[in-house]
Amino acid sequence: MAVIDENNVLEILDKKVYPGKNAIINFNMAKLYTTTAVEVPIIIERSKKPGPVILITAGIHGDEINGVEVVRQLIVKEINKPARGTIICVPILNVFGFLNMTREFPDGRDLNRVFPGSKNGSLASRFAYHFVQKILPIADFCMDFHTGGASRFNAPQIRIKKGEEMAMHYARIFNAPFTLVSKTITKSYRETCAKQGKPVLLFEGGKTRDSNKSVAKSGVEGVMRILAHFEMLKPKFEVPDPTGETIFIEHSAWMRAKYSGLLHVKIPCGKHVEKGEYIATITDPYGKLRHKVKAPNAGYIFNVNESPIVYQGDAIFHISLSTESYEQEATSA
Ligand SMILES: [Zn+2]
Repeated sequence: MAVIDENNVLEILDKKVYPGKNAIINFNMAKLYTTTAVEVPIIIERSKKPGPVILITAGIHGDEINGVEVVRQLIVKEINKPARGTIICVPILNVFGFLNMTREFPDGRDLNRVFPGSKNGSLASRFAYHFVQKILPIADFCMDFHTGGASRFNAPQIRIKKGEEMAMHYARIFNAPFTLVSKTITKSYRETCAKQGKPVLLFEGGKTRDSNKSVAKSGVEGVMRILAHFEMLKPKFEVPDPTGETIFIEHSAWMRAKYSGLLHVKIPCGKHVEKGEYIATITDPYGKLRHKVKAPNAGYIFNVNESPIVYQGDAIFHISLSTESYEQEATSA
């Protein structure tokens, strides 16, 4: 288990990292069929001054590149060199998935559904187990970076659980364009962090197999604001000024395609739309069908399906609901 002793020496994965030093430690947990070890680099930066330990992870889902890009930028810009305390970056947790551009582990399991893992479980479950046992205990604060699934593009957002005052407080500091109040998924990394009493911010932005500059910027700037809050951001950096206050979304609904066909989206992701606003068309390839998709209520569209073709019933937009429209929705369901 990872510990920081009374002399401020960090012991992690059988290595010692002294104050003011850095280290790249490979977390070797699993081997390929070829006996080749799969190395998961853990990048550790320590200040001489004691302070909190921040754990920043991405790529639990191997095809979510935008999160990996956020962590890469933190490293290359040296934002991860703290003014006090320790910053641990794991840019790609699921290296297997990253190599194959798949969400899952090579055993077909979703790593983010097997936490806290088990010693003798599936490969994904064992990996989660060792991560939770050997790395997570040292963390005082966690940030985990994701993207929307498949072609569904998420506006940059922090996800927090309803009623979590502390997470709400940190979400305000991170100040992503949106903060979504959502349930924690059973056996997710976020749930494990929360159960262990570790504040965790889950960031979602962009879509799979895609890298978007403005999403990465939102992620990096949010981390900088959190680090500044903990007095860990070096004075050479200016704390990025947020353009506005994060918009909290408590209730939301997925709009589904009424027809199968070619989807043409008319609005940018993140836009506030009015009820009845024309936001997309669904057409057939033969020029016969042309269905106008209209907003069912006023709200923010914070996820857009960027797939050029959709099936009837596919989720195409995620729209926020006002308390009023939420009540209507609830009674009609
Ligand atoms: Zn994900």
